[in-house]
Amino acid sequence: MKEIIVVGAGISGMVAALQLTCMGHRVRVWDQAEGPGVGAGPHPSVHTTGIDLEATSRYLELDLSPFFTSVRRCPFLVGKQVVNPPLHLLDLHSTERGARPGSLDMYLYGKCLEAGIEFEFDTPLDEEGLSSLPSGTILAGGLNPSLYRILGLPYRNWYGLYRVGEAEEDGVSRVWVGRGVSEYGYLSTCNGLAFEFLFSTQPVGEETAARYEEETGSYVRGGWLPASGAVPLASPRQPRLFHRRFILAGTLSGAMDPFFWFGICGALVGGRIAALAVHDPQRAAREFSAMTRGFATGWWTKRLWYLVRRDPRRLEAVISRIGPERVEKAFDLFYRRFRFPFRIPGFSRLGNMGRDLAS
Ligand SMILES: Cc1cc2nc3c(=O)[nH]c(=O)nc-3n(C[C@H](O)[C@H](O)[C@H](O)COP(=O)(O)OP(=O)(O)OC[C@H]3O[C@@H](n4cnc5c(N)ncnc54)[C@H](O)[C@@H]3O)c2cc1C
Repeated sequence: MKEIIVVGAGISGMVAALQLTCMGHRVRVWDQAEGPGVGAGPHPSVHTTGIDLEATSRYLELDLSPFFTSVRRCPFLVGKQVVNPPLHLLDLHSTERGARPGSLDMYLYGKCLEAGIEFEFDTPLDEEGLSSLPSGTILAGGLNPSLYRILGLPYRNWYGLYRVGEAEEDGVSRVWVGRGVSEYGYLSTCNGLAFEFLFSTQPVGEETAARYEEETGSYVRGGWLPASGAVPLASPRQPRLFHRRFILAGTLSGAMDPFFWFGICGALVGGRIAALAVHDPQRAAREFSAMTRGFATGWWTKRLWYLVRRDPRRLEAVISRIGPERVEKAFDLFYRRFRFPFRIPGFSRLGNMGRDLAS
């Protein structure tokens, strides 16, 4: 029985730890945060992603369904124009993150404790610590810039404003494409929690938050708080499972959708792949490449999208001229006919890793 160290007690780190324990290893998980569910970002929060819950649960041998809420409404707002995406094709679900009971983090943490996995919190990994880690250590640092820096991995900075409040209704999301953010603003609700987040590759100003409120009508009342971090989206060749002597897991490995920046699916599936890499590096490399196959196409598609959305007022005018219903129809047709060439890493109708593995 080999002892394996996992750095990062987020989603992918805990999934990897659980898988390794099932394979008979003793696992220790280190995290710089002071406790479970607090290290991975501004929490509590609600994250939304396309996910095939059945296929992902089967792959991980973990029932994820109680921790995801199906999204029933998710309008995209561009100025006064409202486009409703074909939800029946997208498998959109929301999950709570953070340290409250009922969050995905606390579910995985509970499973890890049951499996006898040891956690060492308040244990940040720095450059010196890295050189003393054994080969084959799993690194799962998520969106925190520190591991990208000490590993020499490329990354981009992101900045955001967020706020949290009570939700009147679960399963509601909304996406805002407006001025002042390179990405978008979103609202998501689940477990009675409402989370609003505006994020961008440049710092987001209060005037952008005011514009968001004016164009969407506020959901959560109260002030905005700043957040920032790193994303593995610096290059179309970003995804890598092995780096130096280490195995990378989750978002740090580039298992992220470069278009919407969905990272949940890649963290779940990537945790298992990282564990597999300890025993069968070749099979793990095959599964990793199936999971991240759409990354480069998504990365380039995003570059095109940046040009299209550079002036949201012009985009609003174009949608108004075409008509939102026609845009919705085109989206639906495009999806059915061509499938998206870029994918959410993992199992979802926008990912379909299973099909890749079978082919
Ligand atoms: C505000 C916000 C909103 C998001 N919204 C969505 C969304 O709607 N949909 C979606 O799919 N994705 C979303 N994401 C992205 C998604 O949350 C991440 O991609 C996902 O959590 C990554 O999982 P992970 O396992 O790779 O890392 P994480 O779950 O982020 O965990 C990383 C862990 O590593 C620890 N760590 C980092 N560096 C060190 C170090 N040097 N030493 C020790 N420990 C370290 C951290 O403390 C943390 O606990 C969002 C992210 C944020 C921050």
